[in-house]
Amino acid sequence: MTSLYAKELETGLQAVRQAADVCRAVQSAISAESLEKKDKSPVTVADFASQAMICRQLQAAFPDDPVIGEEGAEELRQPAGADFLARIVAECAAVGVTGTPDEICNWIDRGGLQEYRSRFWTLDPIDGTKGFLRKEQYAISLALIVDGQIQIGILGCPNMPLDASQPDGDTGILSWAVKGAGSFIQSLDSPDSEPQRVQVSSTAVSSDARFCESVESGHSSHDWSGQIASRLGISREPFRIDSQCKYLAVAMGDAEIYLRLPTRKGYQEKIWDHAGGILVVEEAGGTVTDIHGKAPEFHRGATLAKNEGMVVTNGRFHDAVVAAVEENSPDSHNPPELS
Ligand code: AMP
Ligand code: MG
Repeated sequence: MTSLYAKELETGLQAVRQAADVCRAVQSAISAESLEKKDKSPVTVADFASQAMICRQLQAAFPDDPVIGEEGAEELRQPAGADFLARIVAECAAVGVTGTPDEICNWIDRGGLQEYRSRFWTLDPIDGTKGFLRKEQYAISLALIVDGQIQIGILGCPNMPLDASQPDGDTGILSWAVKGAGSFIQSLDSPDSEPQRVQVSSTAVSSDARFCESVESGHSSHDWSGQIASRLGISREPFRIDSQCKYLAVAMGDAEIYLRLPTRKGYQEKIWDHAGGILVVEEAGGTVTDIHGKAPEFHRGATLAKNEGMVVTNGRFHDAVVAAVEENSPDSHNPPELS
């Protein structure tokens, strides 16, 4: 492991492992009845608890580092939020993190920065909330950004199979990358095991590619990706999973392409939905740009305001994929203005 950002990496990994414990505990307690009622409260409880625990650890180790995160505690501080807050306090305590309701709200609110800083962390405490509720894939994503460059990317993926060829085998992957130092995975349950370096696949022919995309067609256009797949000669069905686990699938060589294609004009991708995953793919040898072939820009606050969608590949035919995306764009005759 590299010594550059060693303390940041160690702190981040420890924080994501602890957050994964609380997420797993809450997800495993989701009952069939609450699924049927479409009760979203388990994911909300786990989301806040995950953010509280990660921000607590970052605050202890790096008190001056701000965090751009998805959640804020304003509603929890209202009288109507008290019962909910009590559930969050209890879930944190169950994995050994004790704090008063007020302390927990303060930890959560450490993730409330929305503007750019020269050094900050960005956090998605549960990416893929819909997958979490379906008891499928979700990720805890944390990244450190310095001068607009992602220096550390960490993805906790509690339900990802350790071996993709054995989907019913052991699950739970912690993956991370440090810029310039490669991409690694480890079993979430074995923090002392030797980290394994990961590499994207060497598939060089786009028609052989396996591609992945969101389960939710509201997050990425399935119609558009179908046209692109035909253009590239891909006949395999797409592999649909929630969250940044798609980035991990590309980094581990289990998929060659991940497409995120805007479903409506004006949607700005959130930095916490990408930063962790991007570095994990790039350091595994892959390439990530937006749908116009432009590098994602992390110096614009909480969103990728000057980018649209995302194209992630193993790097062997990236330009061809971007060209196929542009050629099949619903507005290819009238491209959006981006400065
Ligand atoms: P996924 O699990 O890949 O479908 O992505 C989940 C993420 O999609 C969430 O964390 C949201 O921030 C994000 N999201 C919500 N609405 C949209 C949208 N209209 N387009 C793209 N992403 C979205
Ligand atoms: Mg998200």
